Amino acid sequence: MPRLLKMSDHMTAAPCDPQARQTYVGQVHFAGSGPEGRTCRECRHWFVWKNVFDEGLPRRVPSPPPYYGAKHKETANELMPARCHVPLPGKARLSVPHHAAACRFFDPAEHPPAAMRDEE
Ligand code: SF4
Repeated sequence: MPRLLKMSDHMTAAPCDPQARQTYVGQVHFAGSGPEGRTCRECRHWFVWKNVFDEGLPRRVPSPPPYYGAKHKETANELMPARCHVPLPGKARLSVPHHAAACRFFDPAEHPPAAMRDEE
C-alpha cells in the first residue's frame, strides 16, 4: 500500500518541505525533483517483475503493473502501484503509485504504460 513520507507539522519549515510532503515511501529521492510534469509511470525504473516461460524455462522480466478492475471503488481501471528499482541501501521496499511526481533519478521509459486501461 503506497504511503506518503511522514512529516511532522512541528518541525522548522525548510525549502524542501513541499517536495518532501508529496514524496512516497519507496521513491529514491524527493518527488518533484525530476523533470516538471513527469511521473514515476514514465520512468524506466518503475516496474514489477513478471514470470515468463522462455523455451520452457521460467524467467523474470520487468513489466508494467496490471490495472485495477472496472469496479474498483476509488481507482477503477487505473494502473496499480509498482516499486522503484533504483538500488539504494536502506530504501523501503514499498510500491509507489503511478502518479507520483518524478524524482531527480528519472530516466524516461521507451514505452510507458497508459495511466488508465482502455474501456472496451
Ligand atoms: S522517478 Fe523513477 S527513479 Fe525516481 S522514484 Fe520514480 S521510479 Fe524511482
